[in-house]
Amino acid sequence: MDRREFLKTSVVSLLTAGVVGIPRRSVGQETAAAAAVLRLGSQEGRIPGGSLRDKVLKLESWGGVGLEIGGAPAERVAEIKDAIKGTKVTVSALCWGSCNGDLVSMDAPKRREGIAALKKALDVAGELGSTGVIFVPCFHKQSELTPAQLDPILLEILPELADHAKSRGTRVLLEPLNQGETFYLNRLEQAVAFCAKLNHAGLGLMGDFYHMGKEEKDDREAFAKAGPWLHHVHLASRTRVLPGQDDRSFVEGFKGLKQIGFRDFCSLECGIKKDTDPEIEIPKAFRLLEDQWRLAAG
Ligand code: MG
Repeated sequence: MDRREFLKTSVVSLLTAGVVGIPRRSVGQETAAAAAVLRLGSQEGRIPGGSLRDKVLKLESWGGVGLEIGGAPAERVAEIKDAIKGTKVTVSALCWGSCNGDLVSMDAPKRREGIAALKKALDVAGELGSTGVIFVPCFHKQSELTPAQLDPILLEILPELADHAKSRGTRVLLEPLNQGETFYLNRLEQAVAFCAKLNHAGLGLMGDFYHMGKEEKDDREAFAKAGPWLHHVHLASRTRVLPGQDDRSFVEGFKGLKQIGFRDFCSLECGIKKDTDPEIEIPKAFRLLEDQWRLAAG
């Protein structure tokens, strides 16, 4: 059996095993079930401050409630728990990445190592009560394969990862990126296809306003289609600085989030315009986002 045949067979076995099923909830049902809420937050590196505790207190004073951690540092679990203790801030997502594309590698040992690494990240996410671990299958130059070859590999590895995530009370979150960063998974609907096929509580996706500005025709529709599988959002302007520092509008996207009853976090992942002060600009960005959330009436 050559590799292609093997993959085909694996996908078929997934299908016959009943892993691929009908989604439990339709987008319409989700809309009726929950009212959307804007829960703002930020990646830790975006917030100025000496210690993580300083950053958390600052974030909270600006109305932020979600702290996104870079990577999945097991050695920092105590520090992170201490930093958020007694505040309204909780850990949103862990921004983990691609592990050099190892999880979709044709090299079997490399792939197993990648899967093991993501499982460890999911353990940390579970300990921190995080909504999920952000996973990018591969960036440019991390795979020689085509999207058509990568699809069955991803379909093959995700059930095991999603099982592990679910057992830890968290999720694997696929993040689509713009074509400048990857040739694979550029639009939300491409990640939705995997979530819909596998229909697993341990698997979801996220949307990033910066990438979406380059790849999606319609922010609202992209989020609406992501429906119950969308569990995190990254916030950045068109030029990837703070919301409000250029002409990027969030209103249409927020309409989509309201439509699906989104209640997870919207988290800053961005730079800042040259010679501007984050202590002034971050709270300003949060107020602008709250205004645009109100404007996204329907
Ligand atoms: Mg992002």
